[in-house]
Amino acid sequence: AEGRFTGKTLMVTGAAGNIGFATARRFAEEGANVALVDINEEGLRDAVSKIRGGNGVATFHVCDATDARAVDRVVDEIVSRSGQIDFLFNNAGYQGLFCPMHEYPADDFRTVIDINVNGVFHFLQAVAAHMVTTGGGAIVNTASMAGVQGPPNMAAYAASKFAVIGLTQTASKDLAPYNIRVNAISPAFMGPGFMWDRQVKLQAEVRSQYFSADPKTAAEQMIKAVPMRRLGGIAEIPGTVAFLMSEDASYITGVNIPIAGG
Ligand code: NAD
Repeated sequence: AEGRFTGKTLMVTGAAGNIGFATARRFAEEGANVALVDINEEGLRDAVSKIRGGNGVATFHVCDATDARAVDRVVDEIVSRSGQIDFLFNNAGYQGLFCPMHEYPADDFRTVIDINVNGVFHFLQAVAAHMVTTGGGAIVNTASMAGVQGPPNMAAYAASKFAVIGLTQTASKDLAPYNIRVNAISPAFMGPGFMWDRQVKLQAEVRSQYFSADPKTAAEQMIKAVPMRRLGGIAEIPGTVAFLMSEDASYITGVNIPIAGG
């Protein structure tokens, strides 16, 4: 396809998931070659075949974000196939458990930090090292509104997403001399979908003072806190990522854009 990103290569992590897939498909529609990375091989195959079905150019690469060496290998593989990586959408993530601070299991805390912080760092570093040699590029990290204000019962997730925003700010400074822009997006309540359903169910099950124990009521409480009074749709995310990668954002780096309905 011909479009804004014709001749460019986008690497997407978490590409078997909702946001990663929707964004990969959007870039393919706008002409990019898309390299889909995830730990979920079956999901990747499905995502790639859908993009190819729409005449997009897509490859898939199974990789665990927490394994630095596997990340280096996958970046090398994509570079050797595509010539270079122009854009990284650094988006793989895990929401963690829902429970109050004093009960949060340390092993799940470590798992969340390993995927959401170390994983984001591994891809950011490996792709930035490549982009330093090619003359530049653009990176978007997926943070969350949980990385702007910590929600109840999500200690690990909040800590990890605050870290993603910090990494974004420092990376934008370190990489500015190399013509690499680094920004973040922060979705809030997106749905319908797995993350929204899981979040409503688990927030209700905690029985904290913040949400009803009835999932339907808990969902209403969450939506009432949103000025636009509705969930965000997954389809409302890719356009912001595309804007941040595009030349329209050529002087924008180090920012975090909330996609949160106010
Ligand atoms: P999703 O669960 O559909 O997708 C996440 C993907 O990340 C999955 O395909 C999963 O296999 C992959 N992944 C998990 N661990 C991995 C690992 N170790 N290595 C490689 N891949 C791994 O969720 P989504 O809604 O598409 O979420 C994408 C990003 O958006 C995440 O970073 C999430 O924290 C963030 N986010 C989502 C929402 C929401 O409501 N959906 C809100 C705010 C932020």
